[in-house]
Amino acid sequence: MSSETATERERLVGLRREFHRFPEPAWREFRTTARIVEELERIGVDRLLVGREFIDSDARMSVPDDEEIARWFEDARAAGVDEDLLERMEGGHTGALAVIEQGEGPTVGLRVDIDGLPQPESESEDHVPAAQGFRSETGAMHACGHDAHATFGLGAIEAVKNSDFEGTLKVVFQPAEEVIGGGKAVAESGEFDDCDHLLAVHVGLDHPTGEVVAGIDGFLAVQHVEAAFTGEPSHAGAHPEAGRNANLALATAVQNLYAIPRHADGRTRVNAGIIRGGSATNIVSDGAYIEGEVRGSTTELKDYMAEHAERVLRSAAEMHDCEVDVTVAGEAPSAVSDEELRELVGEVAGATPGVDTVLDRDELGGSEDATYIMQRVQDHGGTAAYVGVGTDHPGGHHTATFDVDEDSLPVGVSVLAESIRRLSQGE
Ligand SMILES: [Zn+2]
Ligand SMILES: [Zn+2]
Repeated sequence: MSSETATERERLVGLRREFHRFPEPAWREFRTTARIVEELERIGVDRLLVGREFIDSDARMSVPDDEEIARWFEDARAAGVDEDLLERMEGGHTGALAVIEQGEGPTVGLRVDIDGLPQPESESEDHVPAAQGFRSETGAMHACGHDAHATFGLGAIEAVKNSDFEGTLKVVFQPAEEVIGGGKAVAESGEFDDCDHLLAVHVGLDHPTGEVVAGIDGFLAVQHVEAAFTGEPSHAGAHPEAGRNANLALATAVQNLYAIPRHADGRTRVNAGIIRGGSATNIVSDGAYIEGEVRGSTTELKDYMAEHAERVLRSAAEMHDCEVDVTVAGEAPSAVSDEELRELVGEVAGATPGVDTVLDRDELGGSEDATYIMQRVQDHGGTAAYVGVGTDHPGGHHTATFDVDEDSLPVGVSVLAESIRRLSQGE
């Protein structure tokens, strides 16, 4: 390793560890955004938009309540985030969009996500962030590698800027991926409508360090649903007939959600992940609540599940003389990675130091709201690919022992930056 490469690696590692120490969950990435902005100002970009300046506020999904947003906002203020910048992120409008304009050429987009998860991080000495002193200090955790993604975005911008890239590069540091809440808001801002090519990226996903997937497909389209049942309370001993039992409506709904028929066209999923209801043993429950999700291997299959789920929820309420309020709390379509872009990324990856295996494609099997932006670009005649950068991760994604192998940081930056550079050269 040359000393220049070693210094570059150390710089990326330093950045990633900073992000790792201060993870913030969806729509609360104030401090994270501020650090990204600081770095973008150092690099020097032609346009720098923050929060509402590039986010379609009404298209945001799964936004936490004001009190929760305020708590993280004040933490960011206490950590010394600049007041002007805080103002630009007011109301949980987090994230940033950086643009480089460098001569005539295509417009290329890069999407990285920046949010952490609301879960505690392992304190075990076997867990590298704990052993080396960069474990989370916020109570949340970068348990999906979005700390590496933010680092990829910054590293790629700088590398592209210092290359012979000709064209426009737009890099979005997207908030709220984990609640599938931010992708739509970025897509609907229209900022990516003029993109000829878009790359999105994820680390890990069970691919080891040194492996790159040129284009991931097989995203399950997903919809999060919340259903609030309302009934009528009554004394369970004295007057059970006077009540309208919301818990019964819930129980009927949960059983029948799982009874939605499978579909011949492909994979479907349903899960009533959170339920609660009632207030006391001797009161007929007048309120119950389900938070669940449906998925499908295509957007159509997800719609099929969503329609059936809604009918089940409404019919279950009716059956027990209750009312139900059904709301869609977040959703994302499916998407495919375009072949020509996959080919180029695959070629670049094959020539990148540190890469020993290149897979043309693989299935994600989960969901991602980058699909909104990918689809938006494809609908406007552009191409898109979702790149996988392998990393040895001791724990699975979303577990307390998840960690990123930092050797994958320079690999991700090189693959992305070089792909973007070559797209501008029409190679
Ligand atoms: Zn995740
Ligand atoms: Zn993730």
